[in-house]
This record gives sequence, structure tokens and C-alpha cells, in this order.
Amino acid sequence: MKIAIFNDNRLGIVAGQKVSDVTTTADWDQSKPHESLVRLMENFDSLKDTLEKAAQEGKQYDLEEVVFRAPVPSPSKIWAAPVNYKKHQEEMNKQFNNAPRTIEELALFLKAPSSVSGPSDPILLPFKDRRTDHEAELGYVIGKKAKNVKYEDAKDYIFGYFALLDISIRGNEERTWRKSFDTFTPIGPWIVTADEIENPNDLSLKLWVNEELRQDGSTKHLIYDCYKCLEVASTYSTLNPGDIIATGTPEGVGPIRDGDVVRIQVGSVGEFSVNVKFADEN
Ligand code: MN
Repeated sequence: MKIAIFNDNRLGIVAGQKVSDVTTTADWDQSKPHESLVRLMENFDSLKDTLEKAAQEGKQYDLEEVVFRAPVPSPSKIWAAPVNYKKHQEEMNKQFNNAPRTIEELALFLKAPSSVSGPSDPILLPFKDRRTDHEAELGYVIGKKAKNVKYEDAKDYIFGYFALLDISIRGNEERTWRKSFDTFTPIGPWIVTADEIENPNDLSLKLWVNEELRQDGSTKHLIYDCYKCLEVASTYSTLNPGDIIATGTPEGVGPIRDGDVVRIQVGSVGEFSVNVKFADEN
């Protein structure tokens, strides 16, 4: 199932080129979309049939007719994987003469939850004189409380997947600072529930800037795959339903500038395009 939040925080189910409004089901509260999503995820097994039925009966819109919002509005945290693809590690070392660092040495880092933005929102660049890059990633949302989860059980804790941009200022500051500005984690366009993704560790990952293909990778090259990321993150902290994991970016990262259009596409999950602007001209 593809679960979306659209317009004024309405709940939608996407099928093909249509989104059905199912806001009146699942105890959905438009004033509390994140809490509503967590409740929906926790009760999903019993709600699934109701949602499917409501999707058939609910008002339908073409995808272009609605404005999609961040499908996970307010996570309590975002754990993100650094240098989680070998070729990206190599390009970073080459461009910045960094001493080679591995994900094993660095561990996952936190992005501010407030950096989340939707697939229709612009990326706002805070600085005119700092290189700010796109990173195309597969993201996922935790469906139930997780602590010290074993690799082989990790699958059971992932509710669903979406495309994620980990926007990053380059430089020597802490990753948390460089990647936590408002609008630095666009996600969307919706959540595809885990049962619809045959293998999250074999999804294509593409990113274009102004129609130029910049990143063309696959999650099959992840160093820590989706399940390993959850395993390690769940040893650092309790993962709450609604928390996000950003799995890392393949090679091809590069700067984005005022006026650019960035398009991300993740396998069968979906795609979205966002505009880039200077924050102070907003
Ligand atoms: Mn990243």
C-alpha cells in the first residue's frame, strides 16, 4: 500500500495515477498528522482492509491535482548512514583529500527532525558561499518500538520506504550541523509499505539536477544494508514508531544552486522533484 499525506494533512492511498482520500478512516486527525500516522502504523494489520475499502469508495484525485506533504511529518529522530557506498567513499576522499573513513569507524549520525520537508517544498539554501550538495537516498520509517534488534529480525520493524534527500553543506563542521538546516531532509512522495518491496537492498536510486542525471546507483551496493542500519541504530537508542533511517548515498553527489530543480527516483517506491532557492529570498 502507498500511504500519503496531502493538501491540508489529509490521508491518502495511492494506486496507479490516482490518490484516494481516506481521511475519515483510521481515526485520522489532520491537526496531528504524525501522531495519526504512528497510530495507523501500530494498528495497520487490523486497519488494512478498512483502508483498502475506503480507498475504493473515497474521493479520487489525479496525482498532479494534490500537494503531497512529508509522509512522516515529525519523527523523534533521524539516524543517517555516512559513507555507506564504497564508490561514494572514494569520491569524497578524492574531492576533499579526506583520510579514508568508513561507516564502521564513523557510525551513524543524527539529523535534526525539524529538517524534514515534503516532496512539494523547496530546498532552502542558508548560505551563498558554501557548497551544498544533493545526496539521493532510500529512507524508511520505523513501525514499532525497537531496541537491540538482531539483523535477522530487522525487517519486522520497518513499516515502509520512501525517497529521501540528505542535503549536505560540505566542510569540516559536524555532520549534524551540516545536514540539519530546515528543508535539508525532503522525503516522499509517500510511504510504500514494506510488504510491497520485495528486496529493499536491491532498488535503483537515481537523481537528476535540471534533467541531468547525476546519481545512478542501487541499494544493492550498500555497505550497511537496510537491516544492518536498523540493527546498529537500535543499539544506540530506542527507535520509536515514526523515526526515520536514511541509508546513505551512492556516488555522484554534487552541488545544488538557486534555481535548480532536483528530481529523485527510487526503484518502485516513487519519485519527486523539488526546487532550490536561497532561504533569505523566501
Ligand atoms: Mn547522506
